[in-house]
Amino acid sequence: MPPSDATAPHTPSHLQREPRGRYAPSPTGALHLGNARTALVAFWHARAQGGAFVMRVEDLDTKRSREAFVATNLDELRWLGLTWDEGPDVGGPCGPYRQSERFGRYERALARLEAAGHLFACYLSRKDLQELASAPHGAAPVYGPAQRALNERLGAQKRGAGKAPSLRFRAPPGQVAFTDLLAGSATFDAQRDVGDVVVRRADGEWAYQLAVVVDDLEMGITHVVRGDDLLPSTGTQLLLYRALGAPPPTFLHVPLLLEADGTRMAKRKGSLTLSALKAAGVRPERVVGLLAYSLGLLAEPTEVSAQELTASFDVGLLQREAFRLDEGGLGWLYGR
Ligand code: GLU
Repeated sequence: MPPSDATAPHTPSHLQREPRGRYAPSPTGALHLGNARTALVAFWHARAQGGAFVMRVEDLDTKRSREAFVATNLDELRWLGLTWDEGPDVGGPCGPYRQSERFGRYERALARLEAAGHLFACYLSRKDLQELASAPHGAAPVYGPAQRALNERLGAQKRGAGKAPSLRFRAPPGQVAFTDLLAGSATFDAQRDVGDVVVRRADGEWAYQLAVVVDDLEMGITHVVRGDDLLPSTGTQLLLYRALGAPPPTFLHVPLLLEADGTRMAKRKGSLTLSALKAAGVRPERVVGLLAYSLGLLAEPTEVSAQELTASFDVGLLQREAFRLDEGGLGWLYGR
């Protein structure tokens, strides 16, 4: 068994400081305020209990990731006042801390899943899947019996025509359940809610779902704090932990920060970034204060550093609802 296998027990001496939390930015743009808010919760959660905080760069998607944003994102988080014990810039016992340098690990985990009979080759294109669902523009439906049957029917011909398959993880029957530190208990039916997810794409790129599980596992992460837009992914990830024979971490999904119009913040639509705030001369303490207020950690926005709020961080205070950044909040940031 290779020493860094996904299911190998961790060397306790390396990872004794618990909890071990992480923030995992994708360098596809500058970080917006919603990203910053999640990063702060991850940082406070780990540090308030004397744990370790890991920074992992999720530059998995080679087409969308940009090298320049790796440095930008780390600079933005440092400006916000975060520090980390392990990461691409500071090293650590669980490196490398960039997904683009961890492909061999994903390969090994994939081989284990393959050997245990969890994977199958899928030759269906996005178009095939959309036509099957008769929802040409809708979200891809859960991949289930109808999709498997179509794959059986068309697979041989497509393989013969030289089409490369994606690899999918076959959802087992039954349920997966977990208790989120904030959202409470959630149950997913593996076949109805999760379905057979892609673990390696047809173009050879690794799927987020597999990479994030292998990384959190091999980095000894005990608590995954992330935005609640990723809550639906947790069912998939729990199935992968199970298939790899490893216990899953504890999850805390942070409700999102919304734009004034109530829509989600997103890098691609130009939501307000930390870089923009920094360039505008806004003090990071203003940003931290507003975000802490939006989370329920302060009664009103106050200038405060991330470090100063660490000791008083309490999951029990966190708001369970999304927060809308309105004119009042923006005005406070810019001192208007
Ligand atoms: N890299 C993901 C993002 O930037 C986060 C993944 C995770 O926290 O599991 O949205």
